[in-house]
Amino acid sequence: MSVQVQNVSKYYGEQKALDGVSFEAGKGQVMGFLGPNGAGKSTMMKIITCYLPQTEGTVKVCGFDVSEDPIEVKKRVGYLPEHNPLYSEMYIREYLEFIGGLHGIKSNLQERVKRMLNSTGLEREQHKKIGQLSKGYRQRVGLAQALIHDPEVLILDEPTSGLDPNQLVEIRHLIQEIGKEKTVILSTHIMQEVEAICNRVIIINQGKIVADQDTQVLRRMTSNEQLINIEFDKPIDQARMAALAGVLEVTSDGVNRWKVRTSGSTDLRPVLFHFAVEQGLAVLSMQVSEQNLEEVFRQLTR
Ligand code: ADP
Ligand code: MG
Repeated sequence: MSVQVQNVSKYYGEQKALDGVSFEAGKGQVMGFLGPNGAGKSTMMKIITCYLPQTEGTVKVCGFDVSEDPIEVKKRVGYLPEHNPLYSEMYIREYLEFIGGLHGIKSNLQERVKRMLNSTGLEREQHKKIGQLSKGYRQRVGLAQALIHDPEVLILDEPTSGLDPNQLVEIRHLIQEIGKEKTVILSTHIMQEVEAICNRVIIINQGKIVADQDTQVLRRMTSNEQLINIEFDKPIDQARMAALAGVLEVTSDGVNRWKVRTSGSTDLRPVLFHFAVEQGLAVLSMQVSEQNLEEVFRQLTR
């Protein structure tokens, strides 16, 4: 596991910002930290990147402890902070060379910078000063600086905030590409973002993890009800299907199509399938319609 967080708490003076947080993340994972403002997302990220010490608990990155080996940790972590502080008077290339230098890249610095400009789509803008760039391009510079030393772990604090819809799509795509080879943890308060780019989501509220799941599993699991769309080859006995254990309601949804509302925890698809067999019906299609994360989030953080 590239990131191991065990029982981490953080106090700012009296205030508890994180309360016993534990999770692990590995390569190929794009993990979303989802939570309202003040939940503790940025605090957790600052701890993983050695910008802040935790009050309690342990954090390891690629096996190195953030408190004991911060230098080894920093070599392996790329970080895009929330308010991505960039030097607006510097040229993009100059800035990336500067950051690369800080990471101790020497012999192949020019080459690394060139690759970063290329992979973040900054080549055409490379001769501009950072201050002359649009917000979307500044985020690209932020990503480029986070990636310059080819870290195994990438921590992105609200990477898409303030981007316009086109920029959003591009940056999300870029993050997904990066996520194939690295461990990416990003924070967001936007549900669709998690649905669009994360394969795992940790929902954090008031310093505590309230859910840690595959994005898809979470949607199903937290629902108290499931809605199954089913289509048969011929008419059915509606009352009979409605009488099956676990079925709350059956409503028509077109010719031989039905919406079956079920009471949550068990998957009723096998039951519906057996019903069809018993009745001599063929099932033409059957899907569980997924509850969107927005509702899930509201349920969990109430
Ligand atoms: P998020 O990123 O999820 O919005 P933060 O990690 O920034 O949440 O903040 C978590 C809590 O800790 C909030 O209540 C915030 O006000 C508080 N906090 C964050 N940074 C500091 C700080 N430097 N000093 C005091 N309190 C802080
Ligand atoms: Mg934050």
